[in-house]
Amino acid sequence: MKNIESSQVVSSESCSCCGRSNKDSITYKGMKNCPQCGRKGRKVKRLTLESLLLPDRVSAIVGDSWRFCPNRDCKVVYYSEDLDKHFDVRHLRVRVHQKSPEDMEVPVCYCFDHSPKSIADEIRETGKSTVINQIKSSMKNPGCHCEDANPQGGCCLGNVTAVVKQIGCEETRQAIDETGYKVENNEYER
Ligand SMILES: [Zn+2]
Repeated sequence: MKNIESSQVVSSESCSCCGRSNKDSITYKGMKNCPQCGRKGRKVKRLTLESLLLPDRVSAIVGDSWRFCPNRDCKVVYYSEDLDKHFDVRHLRVRVHQKSPEDMEVPVCYCFDHSPKSIADEIRETGKSTVINQIKSSMKNPGCHCEDANPQGGCCLGNVTAVVKQIGCEETRQAIDETGYKVENNEYER
């Protein structure tokens, strides 16, 4: 069953000339939830799909209203809000962190190429993680390009924070709590 979120905007005022209520004005807000799993996705730009889909899929991108499904148990990566169209993990040039969070080799920072493995290696070798500060300083110079590199189409810092927290020691976890990043519903937000 499709999970189409639509809203009926019905004016309570009736027409001044005929007295009929204005029930014809129906607007559709679009499909915010994944057609496969029903979870709410985050908006992504068409540019993100154009950059990350396999070349033979790019021509299948239609319209500008796309969302990213972050649910690890769902294979759909992108779906269109207003058209019956979606792309799954097989259609991307890169593997998606949110879909394979247990795979240590799948990048979590796509701009500067950090993975759970590289983060775990540093923690094992030095007892701490400097990845968040590394990313923050790299964001200024040379600058990040999440929109065309990260499948979620946005900043990875929340995801990286979650990874560090998960594999880090107690000391690391405390330092991260102070940064104020939090994880909500598999969506990483500051
Ligand atoms: Zn989904």
